[in-house]
Amino acid sequence: MTILDGKALANDIEKDIKKEIHELATENISVGLAVVLIGDDPASHVYVAKKEKSCEQSGIYSVVHKMPKDISEAKVIKTIEMMNDNPNINGILVQLPLPTHINKDKVLEAVSPIKDVDGFHPYNVGKLNSGLECFVPCTPLGVMKLLAHYDINLRGLDVCVVGASNIVGKPLASLLLQEGATPTLCHIDTKDLASHTKKADLIAVGVGYPGLISKDMVKEGAIIIDIGINRLESGKLVGDVDYEKVAPISSYITPVPGSVGPMTIAMLLLNTLKATKLQNTKQL
Ligand code: NAD
Repeated sequence: MTILDGKALANDIEKDIKKEIHELATENISVGLAVVLIGDDPASHVYVAKKEKSCEQSGIYSVVHKMPKDISEAKVIKTIEMMNDNPNINGILVQLPLPTHINKDKVLEAVSPIKDVDGFHPYNVGKLNSGLECFVPCTPLGVMKLLAHYDINLRGLDVCVVGASNIVGKPLASLLLQEGATPTLCHIDTKDLASHTKKADLIAVGVGYPGLISKDMVKEGAIIIDIGINRLESGKLVGDVDYEKVAPISSYITPVPGSVGPMTIAMLLLNTLKATKLQNTKQL
């Protein structure tokens, strides 16, 4: 069994990004990321603080627009439009979830597609599903980079993606398909989840349910990608896979924490750098 060390890979990627940002600075090109953070969800604040820290370490200028939970949708959209027009801002990220009175789809559509570093705008979603060059959501992009780094050939593999959200499962299934795998996309209404996972050469799970994938649901030698992040009452962070029991029968596995999470942040920096190059019409 090999541990897919996303933390180490993310560190290497971030070092390369830092170098490139330094080179761009010598040409008077700066890299800027704006984050919209609404309300006081503690997890969202932790994620945004991590993103800010990584930006700072890489030389990306970042600004967080913190807004109260009762802010109007119109004001949020106005702020995004201002950032769309601001040449010092290359990437815009809206931290989810949003308060229920705000229409998430409208807000995400307000982000300019060329600054959409999260890849959530329907323009980028459509391009991704057509296999065209676009901004790819950070978590699935990080998973694909991790698999590529370990030379895992996906062509012909039966893959089971568990969790079908717009930000994780759906784009991941699309990317796996483009690499020649045969994905099955499972979700809360899937009948007999185990019948799908047991057949899979690779299981990627992002649900938010600790221990959902148990040993008896996994084929011997399968590749396991655990995207879930759950905080137990004890304070311990765990994924969606029963790691202790599943790891010994897997061929490759991602630990939680310390693999997909750090890759997600590295991909945000990479997408922000990509946006900057695009906006300065530099070659990617
Ligand atoms: P979501 O709530 O939007 O979607 C959850 C998906 O899981 C849905 O498709 C739902 O149908 C499915 N699901 C729920 N219960 C299920 C069950 N018992 N069996 C099968 N499918 C089930 O969540 P999300 O935003 O996609 O996040 C999912 C998980 O991934 C969370 O734990 C989140 O913290 C984590 N996450 C991690 C990263 C990272 O960087 N590692 C990034 C994003 C999300």
